[in-house]
Amino acid sequence: MGEDPAMTSRYRPAFGPYTRAVNDPIVIEDALVVTGAVDRPRAAAVRVADGRIAAIGAPAERGDRRVDGRGLVVVPGLIDAHAHLTLGGRALGELDLSDVRSREEFEAAIARRHRELPADAWLVARGWSEANWPGQALPDRTWLAAAGARPAVCHRMDLHAAIVNDAVLSRCDLARPLAGGRVHRDAGGAPTGLMVEAAVWELVNPLVPDPPPALARQAARRAVRLANENGLVAVGAMERLRDAAEIILPLCPELPLRWRVTLLERDWAPAIAAAAHLPRDPMFEVIGAKAFIDGTLGSRTALMLDDYADDPGNRGTLVDIAADGRLDEWAGAVSAAGLSPSMHAIGDAAVRIALDAHERVQRRHPHAPAPRIEHVQHVAPEDLPRLRGVIASMQPLHRALDARVAATRLGSARCAGTFAFRSILRCGGLLAFGSDWPVAALDPIAGMRAAITGLSVEGAPFEPQERLRPAEALRAYTAGAASALGMHGHGAIEPGSAGDLTILDADPLGCDWVRRPPRVVMTIVGGAIVWDARA
Ligand SMILES: [Zn+2]
Repeated sequence: MGEDPAMTSRYRPAFGPYTRAVNDPIVIEDALVVTGAVDRPRAAAVRVADGRIAAIGAPAERGDRRVDGRGLVVVPGLIDAHAHLTLGGRALGELDLSDVRSREEFEAAIARRHRELPADAWLVARGWSEANWPGQALPDRTWLAAAGARPAVCHRMDLHAAIVNDAVLSRCDLARPLAGGRVHRDAGGAPTGLMVEAAVWELVNPLVPDPPPALARQAARRAVRLANENGLVAVGAMERLRDAAEIILPLCPELPLRWRVTLLERDWAPAIAAAAHLPRDPMFEVIGAKAFIDGTLGSRTALMLDDYADDPGNRGTLVDIAADGRLDEWAGAVSAAGLSPSMHAIGDAAVRIALDAHERVQRRHPHAPAPRIEHVQHVAPEDLPRLRGVIASMQPLHRALDARVAATRLGSARCAGTFAFRSILRCGGLLAFGSDWPVAALDPIAGMRAAITGLSVEGAPFEPQERLRPAEALRAYTAGAASALGMHGHGAIEPGSAGDLTILDADPLGCDWVRRPPRVVMTIVGGAIVWDARA
């Protein structure tokens, strides 16, 4: 299959609303500029030249490209601190089961996809959640019967569990010991097809064929386009070394997005060593390495200090490097390489392990890039003060999604420590927001709405005392995300800072976030208009 010719050149008009008029200075006039800077929070104009903010509030100069900003609001370019861009780009071409509301719909979607695919292709799907259908029964391999002998893998929405069919099970080494995780079996000992945590990453994922490079490049381009359309100028991208080095890096000159890559590699030592040889560029930099401490609340694998309310005796699963007892060794090696250790921790017991590791690695490597804790979803009240000065990389859309299952998984009393945005800020934690796309939508406006309104995806209020003010949510998607990703000179509109801007059709600090959140009108990266909804 060839590449989409419309996507091969950034200059072709066929590229839709994209333009790359890089070198013309731009001035946005008669707008409301929300700078995010303390000394001058608001202005009416901003000028960008040579890729940087040249002036604030000054008139246009001769030769400037003038943008009529009447009715528009300019904010610092939005940054997503945690997304899986190449994975998400690939997911755009895979079967999406997030709208499935019953077993019948699930099976019909599998049957339809099976008919469309070439004979030798795997069927890969994602997005299902048992919370979406009555009875909340977990699927098993019989739900995939329509795929016949074709290997089929359907990832749960959180990517921490998957359902596979016999064609996949027969290829898996089911006897292999796992670093946290489980092959579910029925009463007779036969695998049901449900694979959890390391059973997915170690047994199933390595079997799924990688797409050919042309398709992988096309997926990366689609992901970047989606990011720009959603107002994003930079992403903290969780990527495999191979994708970073062989797909993203060669494409960087034509991808209008700043990549700050955190390597997602279980075999971490060679990955860290290889990262040292990759170039650093304003558009691409490897900034860290990621490890998992636990799983997710939805899959009941988040590591909790107490039992799950709906699964007595289960406190979740220690996984990956933490299960191997090598968390400190890993964090030390990542820091010594000048990278930021990024630790996935969702349950309160996992967050405690991450905080302990954080303190030890900061003592040993005080000048290394700050460690990040990803998700920080449940914090024991006594651990909140320990978050002072710690980067809490959180995803407000996960809050809106998990609000549906939190009360059943944890009991209502423990929900108070869930997605405790306000408490974390009050304790001096550094909030950096992201999406975890494709787990949740690559949409910072939807994320801000979730943080500001406190509403679940179904519109129900959830722990409203932890909601944020609009300025705090905007900060977590700009200056907060920039500092988490080590992006100095980003995240605020100040003379000399990067020429990255997001232009909205309403004031995020004054709009009605429940009924009419702002929409993205234009995205500017390094002084170039990379998305213009009006074009
Ligand atoms: Zn993630």
